[in-house]
Amino acid sequence: MVTHYHDDHVGGVPQLLEKLPVRNFIDHGPSVETTGSTAEVFAAYQDILKKGGIHRVVKPGDTIPVKGLTVKIVSANGEMLATPLPGAGQPMTADCGKFQGRRDDPGENARCVGMIIEFGNFRMLDLGDVTWNKEFDLVCPANKLGKFDVFLASHHGVNQSNTPVLWKAVAPRVAVMENGARKGGSPDTWQIIRDTPGLEDIWQLHFSVEGGKEKNTADPFIANVDDPCEGKWLRMTVKSDGSYTLFNSRNNTRRLTRKSSCYFLPGAAGAWVSFVFSSESGSGVSASNLISDSAEYLR
Ligand SMILES: [Zn+2]
Repeated sequence: MVTHYHDDHVGGVPQLLEKLPVRNFIDHGPSVETTGSTAEVFAAYQDILKKGGIHRVVKPGDTIPVKGLTVKIVSANGEMLATPLPGAGQPMTADCGKFQGRRDDPGENARCVGMIIEFGNFRMLDLGDVTWNKEFDLVCPANKLGKFDVFLASHHGVNQSNTPVLWKAVAPRVAVMENGARKGGSPDTWQIIRDTPGLEDIWQLHFSVEGGKEKNTADPFIANVDDPCEGKWLRMTVKSDGSYTLFNSRNNTRRLTRKSSCYFLPGAAGAWVSFVFSSESGSGVSASNLISDSAEYLR
């Protein structure tokens, strides 16, 4: 899944293919940025598509077939989900009224493929680098997405994204921020996340230099504290009962978050899925997620 054609999202595809066989390539269609590094990485990606595999362009409302998971597309190519998902649709009238729009973003960020990933009763939201005005369309005048266990902070936690009404609407219990030491992790964004009603933890890939002592999460929840970083990663393991554990590879911190209501999914006992939030060693840039299906591991 290529969210958009910036080098921190598609630039690693050739290297990834050297390590893993990939059969399916999913994206939002042609790049709207046709110069500079975006054009270069887009051309390299097009060369890979020509070599084979299945190429699929998605739009909001589509689902991606991954065994055991439900993956719903909510944004692509600048189009946002038009109608609320089942169980969503809560009006956000007061908060939408406070929204201050910005100049429209003509670039690739606004075209990101955004998705909801569900496993059993667990829900995670990942909107890639979708920007401010597009976020508004997803939750105003009513929240089309519903609430989440985990929200992968948009756009590395930079303040071109992460409008307060979005965070309030989707109300995650846990936030994961894929920031670098000097990329994303904006102090004002960090505060918006921290102020989310019901939020329990923030996990970060890096200590944000800009955030300083006040606007970073506690040390145990930060994967990389040095600049340049060591490329430490966070791993989230989700069980089919909806509970999930985050693990920090730097210091072995782990924390389990349980669902408040108790339930059991017949036939799914013991199944799990794991997400790795990683960063390129030394670069301070971080965007890749590796999703592994427990069934594949056990095979
Ligand atoms: Zn990015």
